Amino acid sequence: MATVAKKKAGRPAGSKTQKLETIKVIPPTCKKCGSAEKEVLHTKPIGVVLLDGREFSLRKRRVRCLACGQCRFEDEFKPVVKSTA
Ligand SMILES: [Zn+2]
Repeated sequence: MATVAKKKAGRPAGSKTQKLETIKVIPPTCKKCGSAEKEVLHTKPIGVVLLDGREFSLRKRRVRCLACGQCRFEDEFKPVVKSTA
């Protein structure tokens, strides 16, 4: 019976810990009261943008502020993550 070698998880042996850059995401806030709490009313996909060979999805959202009830539009620009399954 042939045994299947299980691939070891984690980084390869001997490789050093890398110092990776971190990003800070600033959530969009209400122009009227400054709150970031919101309720998404509608999401409309606009399309996919190619930037430096990577795909980014562009979506427009209609949201309502939970603090004061003011409605606004938000744009979402996110990298497209493709599942490898
Ligand atoms: Zn508000």
